[in-house]
Amino acid sequence: MIKFNQFVASKANKTLDQLTDREIYVQLLNYVKEISANKAKNTGKRKVYYISAEFLIGKLLSNNLINLGVYEEIKNELANAGKSLSHIEDIEPEPSLGNGGLGRLASCFIDSMATLGLNAEGVGLNYHCGLFKQVFKRNEQHTDPNFWIEKDAWLIPTDISYDVPFKNFTLKSKLDRIDILGYKKETKNYLNLFDIQAVNYHLIKEGIDFDKTKIEENLTLFLYPDDSDKNGELLRIYQQYFMVSNAAQLLIDEAIERGSNLHDLADYAYVQINDTHPSMVIPELIRLLTEKHSIDFNEAVDIVRNMVGYTNHTILAEALEKWPLAYLDEVVPHLVTIIKKLDKLVRAEYQDPAVQIIDENNRVHMAHMDIHFSNSVNGVAALHTEILKNSELKAFYTIYPEKFNNKTNGITFRRWLEFSNQNLAAYIKELIGEEYLQDATQLEKLLAFEDDKDVHQKLTEIKFQNKLALKTYLKENKGIELDENSIIDTQIKRFHEYKRQQMNALYVIHKYLEIKAGKLPKRKITVIFGGKAAPAYIIAQDIIHLILCLSELINNDPEVSKYLNVHLVENYNVSVAEKLIPATDISEQISLASKEASGTGNMKFMLNGALTLGTMDGANVEIAELAGAENIYTFGKDSESIIKLYETSGYVSKDYYKNDENIKRAVDFILDSALVKLGNKTRLERLYNELLNKDWFMTLIDFNAYVEAKEQILADYEDQDSWNKKVICNIAKAGFFSSDRTIAQYNADIWHCEG
Ligand SMILES: *Cc1c(COP(=O)(O)O)cnc(C)c1O
Repeated sequence: MIKFNQFVASKANKTLDQLTDREIYVQLLNYVKEISANKAKNTGKRKVYYISAEFLIGKLLSNNLINLGVYEEIKNELANAGKSLSHIEDIEPEPSLGNGGLGRLASCFIDSMATLGLNAEGVGLNYHCGLFKQVFKRNEQHTDPNFWIEKDAWLIPTDISYDVPFKNFTLKSKLDRIDILGYKKETKNYLNLFDIQAVNYHLIKEGIDFDKTKIEENLTLFLYPDDSDKNGELLRIYQQYFMVSNAAQLLIDEAIERGSNLHDLADYAYVQINDTHPSMVIPELIRLLTEKHSIDFNEAVDIVRNMVGYTNHTILAEALEKWPLAYLDEVVPHLVTIIKKLDKLVRAEYQDPAVQIIDENNRVHMAHMDIHFSNSVNGVAALHTEILKNSELKAFYTIYPEKFNNKTNGITFRRWLEFSNQNLAAYIKELIGEEYLQDATQLEKLLAFEDDKDVHQKLTEIKFQNKLALKTYLKENKGIELDENSIIDTQIKRFHEYKRQQMNALYVIHKYLEIKAGKLPKRKITVIFGGKAAPAYIIAQDIIHLILCLSELINNDPEVSKYLNVHLVENYNVSVAEKLIPATDISEQISLASKEASGTGNMKFMLNGALTLGTMDGANVEIAELAGAENIYTFGKDSESIIKLYETSGYVSKDYYKNDENIKRAVDFILDSALVKLGNKTRLERLYNELLNKDWFMTLIDFNAYVEAKEQILADYEDQDSWNKKVICNIAKAGFFSSDRTIAQYNADIWHCEG
């Protein structure tokens, strides 16, 4: 492999110190692309197509340098030339081709697929504007378009192109690829991102508002456009079909190239459907096999069933896609014919209305089609899979018990430790070597140090260094003044009522009022929030508003800000997560039990030595099992009780409000004049009324238990030896959450492709 300084000398005819940071960035980009162009692709008879509407890849430069094994070397070389790699990393625009956890998961997965050397690639769309840029004005969220494609980019154009037929026109696609390098691997994979031939940026109006009707020019303009109106929903159907038709055509072409006669297509290809967005790949494959390749319908159904697996990511009813048949008819009538045939096959065998594809309101349940016409249905954490089997998808589990399986999510440790927490990673290597980067279970060797006071001391120092680095970052980039001597308590994730940022906000109010009343904490606490709210999700934006108002009130109150700070970091994304997680002491994972399918943020924090304060939900349950009950702080009602409460409509938020002074005091403060003065009364009133009269995600049911658990974790922080012992147990047991483990399981149980 050519050295970077030789590469620069040959391309730029200059030495590193003569180049600007941007020039060095471009050189590094081209350096990685050139090395990667010379790598062979993974091969293997059966190839996996991981189709996902989202890949929240984050910046790629540093991750690629790490996977090539040259990160340290280049960092030092640059330092010798008076340059800082971290400043150069800042120049790379962040591709935000996803909303949150689901898209980030897909990105960790393609990293692991490449690292395991599997012939397995991602397929998605090349959105020109990723998830909106969040801007705060007058304590409210505003949304700006987020362009990321520059002249010098990771995208590599190909001449692969397909015709995608819609009802009124046919769209020609083009395929751009990003090379995905495994950790210290000789081979590579692709992330395949399909695009239309030309998008029209002039369709963008104010902010992220744009003309949604000009499909031929806007199909890949935005990630997940606001779908609260009919044109938004139609555009989403256009996007989904465009994605899967391209994927299906690519897959068939590649299989034929490798020798398939298509009757044996399932031996050559496997499609993993990431949530229901790619579900139309099932009827599309059947359509192509029958109409273009003259395979009999029933045989095509069998072929497809043997090569498709479906991953369920949620039990929130509103998030399970049900497209009106009429909408599908407007966009892809040729698929409706096939979907109706599939529906007929199901009706011939099963009478239960709960398992039909097309319901009595003529809506197509995408997940139902997936379950009937795939051979694997997986949940994303043990608890989530049990809930699917025993309640949410019970009717299906009765029919197809053999299809259901669990694949607990994971994260790539190369990005979420080796890169993002270089201090901790270096120290772990000092203690146990670096094998853990390929075999994460090696982290268990750290248990030998759980009572070692020198190790405790060093961990405290590393956390402090990370807080200092975060302080600099927040000051330079986000206008936030962080107190590095405070306990850092972080809740970063999409804003959603089920994730219950509002419960954390009520805790902040509670603490503020306690401090005002003279009950002072032993040590200062900094509560950090980060996250975006969907543009159509009003209450989530009201919660953001409340937190921003609280932040202004508290940080400017000289009496209180000695003990408590509150920050909401603007424009939370992968890069921000990489900075916040290593500096955090307390990881907030407080969703209403049964509602968070898995979570992956919880795993990132565990790996980085934060202790979890959480409900027994999603993968928190597995964190508790692995780390041991004494090393995690759990509270609140369990999922069974919550599911029962929904069944009996047994939760009445007003009862909690009326019967508990603490709760009433905190909720009432939302309308306190001190707060209303800083904000928008309509928003605060709406939130107050929501909490009092509806509170669908039961904020108040766990509030007291939450306050109690938080007081406990804050008190326990004071004994740093006992705290660091817990930290070590958490890091040591985090190995299970490596996405290498998750992907190895997908392959062993579902994909069966050679590595
Ligand atoms: C990990 C991650 C998420 C998912 O966080 P959860 O806490 O699991 O919801 C969302 N967004 C970004 C940018 C992430 O890195």
